[in-house]
Amino acid sequence: MKRKDSLIPHCSFCGRSQLEVGKLISGIDAYICDRCISYCNQILQKEREKPDPLIAQLDIKGLPKPKQIKEKLDEWVIGQERAKKVLSVAVYNHYKRILSNTKEKDVELEKSNILLIGPTGSGKTLLARTLARILNLPLVIASATNVTEAGYVGEDVETILLRLLQKTDFNIPLASKGIVYIDEIDKIAKKSGANPSITRDVSGEGVQQALLKILEGTIANIPPQGGRKHPHQQFIQLDTSNILFICGGAFPGLEEIVQDRIGKKAVGFSSPREQEKKNVLTYLHPDDLIEYGFIPEFVGRLPVVTSLEELNHSQLKQILLQPKNAIVKQYQKLFEMEGIKLTFTEEAIEEISRLSLEREIGARGLRSIVEDIMLEVMYDLPSRKNVRECIIDGDVVRGKKKPITITEQMTA
Ligand code: ADP
Repeated sequence: MKRKDSLIPHCSFCGRSQLEVGKLISGIDAYICDRCISYCNQILQKEREKPDPLIAQLDIKGLPKPKQIKEKLDEWVIGQERAKKVLSVAVYNHYKRILSNTKEKDVELEKSNILLIGPTGSGKTLLARTLARILNLPLVIASATNVTEAGYVGEDVETILLRLLQKTDFNIPLASKGIVYIDEIDKIAKKSGANPSITRDVSGEGVQQALLKILEGTIANIPPQGGRKHPHQQFIQLDTSNILFICGGAFPGLEEIVQDRIGKKAVGFSSPREQEKKNVLTYLHPDDLIEYGFIPEFVGRLPVVTSLEELNHSQLKQILLQPKNAIVKQYQKLFEMEGIKLTFTEEAIEEISRLSLEREIGARGLRSIVEDIMLEVMYDLPSRKNVRECIIDGDVVRGKKKPITITEQMTA
């Protein structure tokens, strides 16, 4: 072919010679002309304008409705009715907002990140986890206490986003619609004279500033390997404006701030009823969070606030038995695989819940109590033959006797 033999360089894409084009750029083994560059640019531009695949699949009809979201949450989370409702609506609106902002640009809907306030072990992380599961979205759980101000040793806010990217195998469109749960957010309140009983990290305000950027929506530059930013490094750009941030914390001392502001009478504090005390947080105002040690901009970025209640004895009993992955169900499954029926008597369930309530770590106590009870028997049973059933009763839980095992000979 004449062109290949010629000494004059040709565009490797369209075959035109250097004389026929305005500019010919050389690569290692090939050339490209200005016309082909401009053609390629047009193709890329069209690609960029295509709606991103995840959004294209979503339409308002396909979005799970708040009621459906709540029903799904009910399968995994016991109690916390109000928090589940608030979350279902907030999440529905969040994804509606993503759709609206991509399709119609007239009214820009504001982002609604969520703040969950509730005692430890009440289900804050579980709610975030379950939402991600229901919506089939990537989730990252981080602790605010590990986040440092820019320039300090520790976890950058970018590291949290990197973890989200890693969860999706660097699928940027999917990561940019994921969920980030930031735990222990109360620990980054700045020191305040108003409430000296609570120990706070002095650098709290700097960390709030660092988180503020990603919370409000920014194009974050993420070093693909993590770690400190390096001037010559290539960054992955991730837009955080569609990422749903859920922050959670126990906020010790917050009830007192709300109580002081509204005055004791307003919520019936003269009455000793525990129920009324618990409801104080329903009167929470953004100013109370500022008083607690958060900068106003940070509070402004968490417009949806809801509180979770301390779980009571009967709810702890339900947690042992009812959720899809209830602890008792999990152990029963493990035993079933060995051909053994595992039974917890009603009294055992009562007792486990009572012990857990005493520990004051919410539902977190349940698992460790059950694990303690089951350890010996889990160690022993697989090596024993002919065991047909294992029974845990109240006395077993109280440590007064070993789990009861029934063998085939006994039933024969
Ligand atoms: P926290 O409020 O401290 O984030 P978690 O959500 O991590 O608490 O709860 C710890 C564990 O306790 C969960 O993995 C879950 O098994 C159980 N749990 C806590 N709250 C609930 C709840 N409301 N319903 C069902 N299980 C719960």
